[in-house]
Amino acid sequence: MEQSLFVYNTLTRKKEKFVPLAPPHVGMYVCGPTVYSDAHMGNCRTYISFDLVFRYLTHLGYKVRYVRNITDAGHLEGDAGDEGEDKISKKAKLAQLEPMEIVQKYTVGFHEVMQLLNTLPPSIEPTATGHIIEQIELVKIILEKGFAYEVNGSIYFDVEKYNQSKDYGLLNGRNLEDLLNNTRTLGGQDDKHGKLDFALWIKAKPEHLMKWPSPWGLGFPGWHLECSAMSNKYLGQQFDIHGGGIDLMPTHHTNEIAQNVASCGKIPANYWLHTNMLTVNGQKMSKSLGNSFLPHELFSGEHSILSRGYSPMTVRFFMLQAHYRSTLDFGNDAMEASEKGFKRLMNAYGLLKNLVVSEEGEVQIQPLLDNCYSAMNDDFNSPVLIAELFEASRIVNSVYDKKLKIDQPNLDLLKTLMTVFIEDVLGLQNEQAANDDLPKILDLIVTLRNEAKTNKDYATSDKIRNGLQTIGFQLNDSKEGTNWSKI
Ligand code: AMP
Ligand code: ZN
Repeated sequence: MEQSLFVYNTLTRKKEKFVPLAPPHVGMYVCGPTVYSDAHMGNCRTYISFDLVFRYLTHLGYKVRYVRNITDAGHLEGDAGDEGEDKISKKAKLAQLEPMEIVQKYTVGFHEVMQLLNTLPPSIEPTATGHIIEQIELVKIILEKGFAYEVNGSIYFDVEKYNQSKDYGLLNGRNLEDLLNNTRTLGGQDDKHGKLDFALWIKAKPEHLMKWPSPWGLGFPGWHLECSAMSNKYLGQQFDIHGGGIDLMPTHHTNEIAQNVASCGKIPANYWLHTNMLTVNGQKMSKSLGNSFLPHELFSGEHSILSRGYSPMTVRFFMLQAHYRSTLDFGNDAMEASEKGFKRLMNAYGLLKNLVVSEEGEVQIQPLLDNCYSAMNDDFNSPVLIAELFEASRIVNSVYDKKLKIDQPNLDLLKTLMTVFIEDVLGLQNEQAANDDLPKILDLIVTLRNEAKTNKDYATSDKIRNGLQTIGFQLNDSKEGTNWSKI
């Protein structure tokens, strides 16, 4: 069945048919993490959502260039990201480390977590500090086009001037007057001419750690600018998808569009996809609100509101059970339910290889397969897909229990369906016995070996000892009994 993919585009506030600019190629840019602290589960939700998009587009046969940046400079503390101290410099001063040590530490940690959650690496992961020249060039162009001005070595984007000929509120759907009325007044110290103006280039104070020479003196680029410069460099002036959390839409993405339109007259991406927030008791999970969970706290259960830990794949499954545009509330009960659901799905998936076929089957898998595609083609509707996979699991269990007959072609299709959608599209994997269970398993093996020894079944007891040795465990016999250690 030929189906088309429809995606919800924030730019038009509609679900639209996905038509890439140059098929089979698809360009996708997603705003990456600011590496000044550990990514929390909310951040992870956004990256898992775009991993789903990346995986599904790839499955459909598109050759996706997925660019996700690392923000390693220029993201300041203020709401709009261009006032106050640089988040990374601040952390470096506190820890008495080089900013690049902070960047390295949290980039490595981010990659580890992304891998544990089985998200695929992006095709390109550019850093802001690696693209200072491109950013300076972009500032020059915006200045030349008359949409920016210099004050004391800093360059600001002139939003009101821009809005005279363009539409600043295109993405956030708000008019300028409305935006101006809802923004605080300029402080006396402010170099900005207008309340909505934002920094493209910021003059560095003498104590500022990360700074670069520019035509306007020593300084550093603004946060919004880096995404415009890097998406432009790796995906061109126009590409297919731009993504990020919905919290980035009103300012960061709005400013990105303004920069691109000001410099080259083009809105960078055709489809703007925004993920909704992971919440805790209905409130956005965020570091500054102090309600954030780190992935390792969730995996280990070491957090005051958690009764125990949950495996990375359970966490991924939990995230995918909600549609990416819905909020998702985090809590023990929800995690517990997801764990049960994930085990149910993976048990059925594991049983597939044991199914026996009948000459004449009673079940047709094609309609189920069509439903799986319909779900994903409807703006990546993973919760509906998971419901279809539970239907597939029900079929597996019924065939296994000999309550339903399946013929060979339908079993083959069922295997393909489950492999494609569970592993390739949802990115779920069977987890090995959790490390925490390993000591218990080894203790059990030692007990069995001791029983064999007591029964003078030396062949079995030696087999166990040698077998453990080959996989890296040594048994130590003493008067007190036998214990095991890692070789
Ligand atoms: P940051 O490192 O703060 O730049 O954020 C990285 C990404 O995580 C951005 O796309 C944010 O929109 C996203 N994000 C931040 N908080 C949450 C949350 N509670 N739920 C989902 N995504 C979030
Ligand atoms: Zn960005």
